[in-house]
Amino acid sequence: AASLALTLSACGQSSEGGSKADDTKGSTKGATIGIAMPTKSSERWISDGNNVVKDLEAKGYKTKLVYGEDKPEQQVSQIENLIAQGVKALIVAAIDNKSLDNVLQQAKDANIPVISYDRLILNSPNVDYYASFDNSKVGELQANYIVEKLGLKAGKKGPFNIELFAGSNDDNNTKYFFNGAMSVLQPYIDKKQLVVQSGQTKITQVTTLRWDGATAQKRMDDILTKSYKSEKVDAVLSPYDGISIGILSALKSDSYGSKSKPLPVLTGQDAELASVKSIMAGEQTQTVYKDLRELAKVASNMVDAVLNDKKPETNDTETYDNGSKVVPAYLLEPVSVDKANYEKVLVDGGYYTADQLK
Ligand code: BGC
Repeated sequence: AASLALTLSACGQSSEGGSKADDTKGSTKGATIGIAMPTKSSERWISDGNNVVKDLEAKGYKTKLVYGEDKPEQQVSQIENLIAQGVKALIVAAIDNKSLDNVLQQAKDANIPVISYDRLILNSPNVDYYASFDNSKVGELQANYIVEKLGLKAGKKGPFNIELFAGSNDDNNTKYFFNGAMSVLQPYIDKKQLVVQSGQTKITQVTTLRWDGATAQKRMDDILTKSYKSEKVDAVLSPYDGISIGILSALKSDSYGSKSKPLPVLTGQDAELASVKSIMAGEQTQTVYKDLRELAKVASNMVDAVLNDKKPETNDTETYDNGSKVVPAYLLEPVSVDKANYEKVLVDGGYYTADQLK
């Protein structure tokens, strides 16, 4: 498949002046941009795809948007196809950050710039720019929320029981979220004000492949059975709303959510609709909102700049070393959301309508 794509892509290159719809003859107007998103199984990536398409079209580009169903091989062949179809730039949110080196070399050979979207692509020199959020800050917001909510910041001594969850081990963001959170939690764990009854504190023990909610639910079930016979969980660090919903199911099956056994403080990320509703209902406690409309703008501006030989705006040129180079990045600010501010942030901010939250 790789060599076929290469041949096709070479054909695409040599069809200058031909009748291809996206033939741009030196101008970027009307060029087609390929967008590869990881999965439709989570709302956020559906919004991302739609937002990027809308922004690029407003700038006069055509787009081809594909979703990889969380299968790394599928994403690789989708990107090969986009290259073969003659796209002029690629925006890629990786499924497996280490599986794209070969296909990005094909992009490079066809002179196609690559924007790494939200998740950094590793081990490839052919990543031109990175558009994302401050991923360490996401973890810090979750952990700070927990210690504040438990009263530790206000001087309570605890000890409180906490369990830790991290994202998919093939997503570069995972360690930024987790390490960001642990930078806040570790001092309390060291002082035994926070206790992880399961003993699972290393990132390798707490990741959740492909961010799957059912996998997290199963792990939480096991932890509750083995480590909470007499103890009660007071807080759970969850990196993503889909995982939080899974954890909630496990907790509820173990009769958490009653007067005598209240639900623990439970974080999340993405302000997905189900989780915002859960927060309104007093179940999930917090989420981290990332304005995807802004991220789409950053990525489309990067594409537009690169294709017009301009330097895209970046605000971080040090943090994101992908193993092959430090990728210049533009990082947006994440925002902590709970019952107290969801209306102001999400509804007044135009992210959701009041009707959607009913
Ligand atoms: C994104 C998060 C998302 C997670 C699962 C991460 O790479 O940054 O926003 O919750 O993937 O889709």
